Amino acid sequence: MSRAETAPGPDAVAIVPAAGRGTRFGAGRNKVLEPLLGRPILRRTLEALAAAPEIAEIIVAVSAEDEGEIRALCDGLARPFRIVRGGATRQESVRNALESVRHRLVAVHDAARPLITRDAVARGLASARAHGSGIVAMPVADTLKRQSDGVVLETVPREEFWGAQTPQCCRAEDLRAAYEAADRSGFQATDEASLLEHAGFPVRLVPGSAQNLKITTREDLHTAEAILRARQADEGAAMTIPRIGFGYDIHRIAEGRPMILGGVDFGLDYGLDGHSDADSLLHAVMDALLGAAGLPDIGNLFPNTDERWRGANSLHLLEEVAQRIRAAGYTIGNIDATVIAERPKIAPHAAAMRANIAKACGISEDSVGLKATTNEGLGALGAGEGVAAHAVCLVLPPEHAK
Ligand code: MG
Repeated sequence: MSRAETAPGPDAVAIVPAAGRGTRFGAGRNKVLEPLLGRPILRRTLEALAAAPEIAEIIVAVSAEDEGEIRALCDGLARPFRIVRGGATRQESVRNALESVRHRLVAVHDAARPLITRDAVARGLASARAHGSGIVAMPVADTLKRQSDGVVLETVPREEFWGAQTPQCCRAEDLRAAYEAADRSGFQATDEASLLEHAGFPVRLVPGSAQNLKITTREDLHTAEAILRARQADEGAAMTIPRIGFGYDIHRIAEGRPMILGGVDFGLDYGLDGHSDADSLLHAVMDALLGAAGLPDIGNLFPNTDERWRGANSLHLLEEVAQRIRAAGYTIGNIDATVIAERPKIAPHAAAMRANIAKACGISEDSVGLKATTNEGLGALGAGEGVAAHAVCLVLPPEHAK
């Protein structure tokens, strides 16, 4: 194994320009937000990049219109991510992202190439590390004809031609210099390799894969689905079974605090103490959902050290959690929860609480179970010092969703 092939630890930033719309796809919106086997195309692309050990961080360039949705679907990635504002062209978007890169290498990758493999990323970056650049590309397999108006002028020796894919990997400083050169001459390019060539840097190709297709049309999406299904079958189909989740929370009762449970204000002169609205029932439900999908828990998502969440309405947080579950590719099947409290009486509000949970999660009320029990006078809960809640849930992968 040569030095260039030795695992270096994370020394590269992946840049993913995702500010375009993909008009040939005909989705009427950014095509990379469309589902590929139940998960947005972009989410699958980012997960593939995050699986590469060389990638320290991912920067996604987005339009103002898509920022909220893309920010949500980035969540829970195995690598830190940042969102920057994209430009009118790919060149502008990548430039905006490049400004904040502090690592030595960059790997610019198309948002619409979700089938990239760890091996191809490793080859591109190894070449960039050793030689300054590594453009993932494939030899052209078809016989090449030069034509005019559909009439062949000549057959071109295809041995000379490779099709450029992504990631296009290089030293960050070289790409910055290439941008400066392009600015000086007004050069516009459709990929980073062209910018490097234009600036006089030697550009090296490394072999990609025929499966690393760019989803441009609906037909491409169907091809990508077939490839992905075959891979999932090969990989033991880890994401084909329903997953359960469990959550627990407790908050102390305090005078002068609102008593909010299941998003319902009980209108009492005592309530639950905490940084947010202290809705222990919804907190247990959120942790069950997040746990089922393998996402970080609410302590990580909405830390109680963050002023943004002071007094937060937990119903809004639950809506956001439900969105993250969907962004991770799951559908919420059902939720079942138990509140443990000596006081207040839950029954008068139970129907409204159940309806709130169902609505925030986008599921029917008969998919939400809610029970309440006392602690039979035992311990602190039995003494009426707090309100606890347990919740379980089931989330469904795409194959099981209706
Ligand atoms: Mg809590």
